[in-house]
Amino acid sequence: MKIKTKENASLLMALVPTLLLVGVMVWQDVAWWITLIAAVAVFGLLSVYFLLMMKSYVAYKLKPIYSMVLSRDVHTTEIVDEMKDKHVENISEELTAWVNDNDKEISRLKDNEAFRKQYLGNVAHELKTPIFNIQGYISTLLDGGLEDELINRKYLERAEKSIDRLINIVNDLDTISKLENDMNRLKMERFDVVALAKEIVEQLEMEASKRKIQLIVKGADSLPSKFWVVADKHYTGQVLVNLIINAIHYGKEGGFVKINFRDMLGKVLVEVEDNGVGISKEDMPRIFERFYRVDKGRSREQGGTGLGLAIVKHIVEAHGERMNVRSELGVGTTFAFAIKTKEETTN
Ligand code: ADP
Repeated sequence: MKIKTKENASLLMALVPTLLLVGVMVWQDVAWWITLIAAVAVFGLLSVYFLLMMKSYVAYKLKPIYSMVLSRDVHTTEIVDEMKDKHVENISEELTAWVNDNDKEISRLKDNEAFRKQYLGNVAHELKTPIFNIQGYISTLLDGGLEDELINRKYLERAEKSIDRLINIVNDLDTISKLENDMNRLKMERFDVVALAKEIVEQLEMEASKRKIQLIVKGADSLPSKFWVVADKHYTGQVLVNLIINAIHYGKEGGFVKINFRDMLGKVLVEVEDNGVGISKEDMPRIFERFYRVDKGRSREQGGTGLGLAIVKHIVEAHGERMNVRSELGVGTTFAFAIKTKEETTN
């Protein structure tokens, strides 16, 4: 007999003394019917007794498990009560579920920890370069360069450029941490997204002209347009700025950047298209990672922080949408995202 339950165990424990009693009674020639009644009575009473003993012992032993593992502070009698409708043997299922949950939580925490370490390392690395540059220029100026007409202005300008770079990185880091901390507090409002794109394009016209790139906002001739959306206007503007700046930086010299709008039942699809360097299939899955750059030299030269697309993804996903990219090396890239035209109603 396999002892899987407490009932089996108590029956087995009662059986041994009962058999002993029967043996003694047979040896003493006690009438068979008295032996039978005594055997049944002793077996029954002992089974119940052992069962009760076992239940309270198991309940006593389970108490710390209930309080530590299952976070339930219960009295021993409550555990005994529970054992009436639920076999205590099932505790192993509850424990397995608890272990699984804990395993998942631990690996999530480990991932977070690894990400945090890598992120911190990346931030330090990104800040180091401009800081050391500034230190180098200032040292050279102090060591006599200040009086040297050939380099003093040039070094100051270079130091200023590094400071601008530091400011860009810190601003982007600040945006990311704000997004992580209060993304639930999006300020949703209704606005004309074509008008917003036009405003942004006007601000970026100078940047585009440096690379002789033409910025085109489709449908911006007759404002207000028909593309009204409900979203956080400030953050949507930030998405457009980052995408358009990238399209200028990685676009073709003398080329174009087009911003298109498409009507999709209940949503507006916004596309930022360029005819620049494009992105390879291998790099595509990684471009939204923080600090990931395909061409580090080009990114830095253009003043990129490697955080632009991470910010974009964060914002779009906080609005419940996804970023899409189509690209072909040497042909161009189109980034697209949808914005809802009505506020979502939660029932
Ligand atoms: P960065 O500050 O380097 O531009 P982003 O996060 O904005 O950082 O972009 C990550 C990388 O994705 C860039 O370094 C660049 O290699 C690539 N990328 C982004 N936009 C484009 C684009 N429109 N065309 C080609 N490559 C792009």
